[in-house]
Amino acid sequence: MNYLITGGKVLLTTADDLRIAEKDIYVRDGKIVGITEPAGQNHAPESGGKAAFAGENNGAAAFADEKFEVVDARDRLILPGLINLHTHAYMTVMRNYADDVDFDEWLFRRVMPVEDTLPMEGAYWSSLLGLMEMVRTGTTCFADMHMFEGQSAKAARDLGMRAYIGRGLVGEDLYTDGLSRFEQFLREQEAYESDLVKFAIAPHAIYSCSPRLYEQAAEEGRKRGLMLETHLSESDFEVDSAIGKFGKTPVAVLRDTGFLTERTLLAHCVKMRGDDISIIRDCGSTVVTNPASNAKLGNGFAPVTEFAEAGVNVTVGTDGVCSNNSLNMFREMGLLSTIHKGVRRDSTKAPAKSVVRMATANAAKALGRTGELGVIAEGAEADFSFLDLSCPSMIPQNNLIASLCYSANGGEVESVMIAGRWVMKNRHFSGIDEERVRREVEDMADKYLKK
Ligand SMILES: [Zn+2]
Repeated sequence: MNYLITGGKVLLTTADDLRIAEKDIYVRDGKIVGITEPAGQNHAPESGGKAAFAGENNGAAAFADEKFEVVDARDRLILPGLINLHTHAYMTVMRNYADDVDFDEWLFRRVMPVEDTLPMEGAYWSSLLGLMEMVRTGTTCFADMHMFEGQSAKAARDLGMRAYIGRGLVGEDLYTDGLSRFEQFLREQEAYESDLVKFAIAPHAIYSCSPRLYEQAAEEGRKRGLMLETHLSESDFEVDSAIGKFGKTPVAVLRDTGFLTERTLLAHCVKMRGDDISIIRDCGSTVVTNPASNAKLGNGFAPVTEFAEAGVNVTVGTDGVCSNNSLNMFREMGLLSTIHKGVRRDSTKAPAKSVVRMATANAAKALGRTGELGVIAEGAEADFSFLDLSCPSMIPQNNLIASLCYSANGGEVESVMIAGRWVMKNRHFSGIDEERVRREVEDMADKYLKK
């Protein structure tokens, strides 16, 4: 289906700025093919109707001979889809299951034992619920880490969401400890990879994977052209034990394995010591900060302003709902900005424009897809969310970019299009039995978590 989205306000991204302007957007075969000045009174849209445009002005002439279904976007703000670069969608069943406990208790005595008992098929429903929450709050693309990556991939495929699904790994050696898992990964990649769903290799962390495994993962990533993901320097425990064991920080260990590449996503990066920041910059890897998760687990916060000042590409993730407990990128952007203003005691730090860029254009850069994702521009993928500007949180419109960071709560998101297809329209998902998703996840929580 081809669309003309007209009458709305659009978030536009340039090399170093963001601005809001009224534009018409032409979508053909899942991509943005034109952005023109608003057609004006002559082309007052009839929502859902077909319209042939005379295109006598404003650049619309190029589309004069084509039919586009008109999308009436009056009173709507159109955003490029937000990109959540670190999460664990399958954990959604564990929402509000392990709160207000210390990090060791949380990870080793609450999360990991339950993870081991959850059935593989349950991961599908749990992931799907997580994906629905992401879409409802304007996220169109996410990077995931998971042991049952095929289930997350299937959920992304069924919902029509863009995804980079990381195969979670732990152990000493990819080919002895994990050969069957890696073979399974390759089979699932073959089964589920598509234009929307891509795969990645995701060793868990330096305290659960050997340097050798990181080295092998890096080599497989390079050979197969895959993204790499890992958790890095999340807690003092992690950094102290790496220094005790290897005589260097986790960042330095990973650099020496060749894992820090331009296609590597580094979640957390809270506890930076010595040259860690410049190592990450020199390797061209991307930091994915998870402000809610890091603060809630008592680990602190990544030195986001220092990363940005050093020239590191900084992006945002929610982490899983077990540590956040939400997959809402609006909440994450707001927290990111306010935490860093507060911590630095400087209200000019982490300004709204930078934070919105982190969740859009910077994330696209991390995925090697600058100009294709995270922007509304000609040639980009048609991944949008439509925010209802009549919501109280968006009124008055003194500064809509500030609204996105400080006022919006995600409830403003009314419709979401991914690759030119309506994934959610007027808050209803197409092709998904929402009631069944809720029931399956509730049943699983009853069975495995409420013992
Ligand atoms: Zn994580």
